[in-house]
Amino acid sequence: MCEICEVWTAESLFPCRVCSRVYHDGCLRRMGYLQNDSAVEVTETAHTETGWSCYYCDNLNLLLTEEEMFSLMETLRHCKIIPETCLTLDDFLHYKHLVHKQQFERPMAEAQEEQAALQFSALDPDKKGHIEWHDFLSHESIQLLQKLRPQNALLRLLTAKERERARAAFLALDQDGDGFIREGECRRARHGWFRKHQKEMPSCSVSISHVGPMSESSPTSSGSSKSQKTPAAAEQEEARPVDWASFLRENVAYILAARPNSAALHLQPPPA
Ligand SMILES: [Zn+2]
Ligand SMILES: [Zn+2]
Repeated sequence: MCEICEVWTAESLFPCRVCSRVYHDGCLRRMGYLQNDSAVEVTETAHTETGWSCYYCDNLNLLLTEEEMFSLMETLRHCKIIPETCLTLDDFLHYKHLVHKQQFERPMAEAQEEQAALQFSALDPDKKGHIEWHDFLSHESIQLLQKLRPQNALLRLLTAKERERARAAFLALDQDGDGFIREGECRRARHGWFRKHQKEMPSCSVSISHVGPMSESSPTSSGSSKSQKTPAAAEQEEARPVDWASFLRENVAYILAARPNSAALHLQPPPA
């Protein structure tokens, strides 16, 4: 049954990849959720592996409570970020520095600034040199959820479809069926949630630099570890057993961050 008109018809309905809602394209267009040029995109995406998120699920900002939203807006105001505008790398870093200083009362370390720059490129997949307001807002919303809510509360935000997909990913990794996977596999799974829709297929060489850490999940690189620890320590950590409950807990923020349709990565996983 279509979420908007509440009528069931046999004509094709678009399923949301996150929740159980389905929609008529005509209804989406009538409500202004589909612009003319994105209509074709939705029709193409909704039935692919990538899938399509409906307007409830696409907007991570909707997950915030009124108080959390207020606190986010206060921070933005304090950092002189103007809503609805694009941010350059300088704007983004300046903002991250201020927020960090506010929270920890000391400047950001070099490694953290590097991490912020990486996050910026993940939010700017087309390398336009700026990030869209909505991508920035989604990124900040998920950051705030991570900061303010205990992981158990985040788990309650997952839909049945998201749990099912995570379960399937876990079972595929647990090849001997003992209920445990290795820490390294758990970390690499984080990159796997982000199946982003790409307008044009990038050439091979572009795609590797473009997706960055996602290439870690490819079978060829899955055995390598970029960790700077001693090989033995890294190996030990790689091998730490992770059960289903911890797997879900450690991945929940990334599963939520993968919801928006935008090609941007709203929460860049640390290098695997
Ligand atoms: Zn309808
Ligand atoms: Zn949905």
